[in-house]
Amino acid sequence: MNRLEGKVALITGGSRGIGAAVAFRLAEEGADTVLTYENSAERANEVAERIKASGRRALAVRADSADPEALTAAVDEAAATFGRLDILVNNAGVFHVGPLDDMEPAEIDRTLAVNVRAPFTASKAAVRHMDRGGGRIISIGSNVAERAVFPGLALYSMSKTALVGMTKGLARELGPRGVTVNLVHPGPTDTDANPADGPNAETIAGFTAVGRYAEAAEIAATVAHLAGPDGAYITGASIHVDGGFTA
Ligand code: NDP
Repeated sequence: MNRLEGKVALITGGSRGIGAAVAFRLAEEGADTVLTYENSAERANEVAERIKASGRRALAVRADSADPEALTAAVDEAAATFGRLDILVNNAGVFHVGPLDDMEPAEIDRTLAVNVRAPFTASKAAVRHMDRGGGRIISIGSNVAERAVFPGLALYSMSKTALVGMTKGLARELGPRGVTVNLVHPGPTDTDANPADGPNAETIAGFTAVGRYAEAAEIAATVAHLAGPDGAYITGASIHVDGGFTA
């Protein structure tokens, strides 16, 4: 299905995990894709090459989401390279967990920079290119924004909950400009950050209603729905794709 034919998408953190799955899915649906990464140049380029082999245009750009200038430049590069920008997926995230007593300012700042300031900054940069109408901003939150099941999640949960407010506020602000803004909260998803065969995986899977981890492609499917024409009337929403983790 080519529901995204002619569209251009930028995905932050597209070298691995959920971001790579989103890049593949949006490309499958017809979009040209730009993906950012921080360190994994080889993996990011592999994702871009696979997309190109399937007949779509793709580009991997190094941009640390914690650096607002680099992130803004990546957004502008995407629009300049492919002539437009329709879809922004704020996916890149860091996962610092630990007791409150051990949280140092540097970790707090890094989490807030990557998980909160970057989605805000990228949205600001992207919307300048979304003047044709039909723009989409989709951020990746987390199941633990709503249910912090273990001690030690406060910083990460706080950072993801901030995206609820950003999503609602931007939905109101950008609706008149034809841009929808939504948040997808994945449940435990099999990636490098949270492998389904990791030491705590069985316990974590046990918190879901379906008793298993998601594949990254299952998160990407909902992102694709929001990005496409069928998602046009959904905005300001937080959608849980979490196997019932928060049920
Ligand atoms: P991974 O650790 O597997 O991948 C993270 C991706 O983000 C990589 O592409 C990485 O790039 C990129 N990234 C990280 N920091 C930066 C940065 N500062 N600048 C640019 N890119 C960066 O994570 P997941 O795929 O598991 O997670 C993706 C999103 O989903 C995150 O926002 C996470 O919080 C959220 N999430 C994940 C869940 C899970 O169970 N996996 C559950 C709920 C939410 P590089 O390869 O260069 O390091």
